[in-house]
Amino acid sequence: MKNNNNHSDKSKRIAIYPGTFDPITFGHIDIIRRAAPIFEKVLVTLAVNSSKLPLFTIDERIEMIHRAIEGIEGVEVAMSKGLVVDYANSVGATVLIRGLRAVSDFEYEFQIALMNRKQQSGVDTVFLMPDERYTYLSSSLIKEIARHGGSVDEFVPDFVAHQLKSKFQNNS
Ligand code: ADP
Repeated sequence: MKNNNNHSDKSKRIAIYPGTFDPITFGHIDIIRRAAPIFEKVLVTLAVNSSKLPLFTIDERIEMIHRAIEGIEGVEVAMSKGLVVDYANSVGATVLIRGLRAVSDFEYEFQIALMNRKQQSGVDTVFLMPDERYTYLSSSLIKEIARHGGSVDEFVPDFVAHQLKSKFQNNS
């Protein structure tokens, strides 16, 4: 008897959600919550090869991601040091998730998505839009506010706000 293998294959898709997560915000978490029910597994992947100089260490960022995804089913934390598409390929992931906040994200994300597909034709990018409340949120903005002693409680989980506070207290 013919079973509907196609359907079960589709529903078993693994997705990677790569980023710097420096630190993770409610915007990222919103995207993770939206992606979780769509895929069999979502790997929130700390991409370490970025040319950015992060405020938080790899361990600190991983720890914050772990706490942020607690209780969200089908979501795990991972790390990638080379090309994200190569990492995706090595774990059998066929989808990259990226968040689109505004038109301003589009050009950069479009370029990266096409370049990634050139590198690994089996990996496509899926864009998800966060709740409107988070469209203006970015990790850089959060760091800027925290650096100047502003409140970030509305934008990040309390353990992240805590980490930001102690980071800037120790740095000043
Ligand atoms: P990267 O250095 O890869 O841009 P980020 O951690 O800044 O890493 O972002 C990872 C992904 O999450 C990107 O696709 C980014 O557009 C998305 N993202 C960041 N902040 C938000 C937000 N507030 N709402 C939705 N998506 C977001």
